Amino acid sequence: MSEKKTTKEDVHAWTSKYADKAGYMLNPDEEMRDLVLEGIAKNKDTHGKNYCPCRIVTGDEIEDKKIVCPCIYHKEEIESDGSCHCDLFFRKEDQEEDEKED
Ligand code: SF4
Repeated sequence: MSEKKTTKEDVHAWTSKYADKAGYMLNPDEEMRDLVLEGIAKNKDTHGKNYCPCRIVTGDEIEDKKIVCPCIYHKEEIESDGSCHCDLFFRKEDQEEDEKED
């Protein structure tokens, strides 16, 4: 059986689309971003879903549903901290304002 491994590029594709749609942006620090993308890809292959790499998969399906990326927490985290817990999704305005300040 040839099961295709999930790659960080696969995860990059849908997280970029989601970020665009939601008005967020992905972490501009490629190295940090790739670590998270790789973590999600690994979880997809190990646990079957795009679980957050920065949270613990408990094995309880209902609990774990909350941490399928984009998790139920990310909007609030981005709202209050400017980015989600994993620093994958960022609030757009912040970055743009930072750029303007330079
Ligand atoms: S913290 Fe960020 S990367 Fe982790 S699941 Fe939530 S949205 Fe995805």
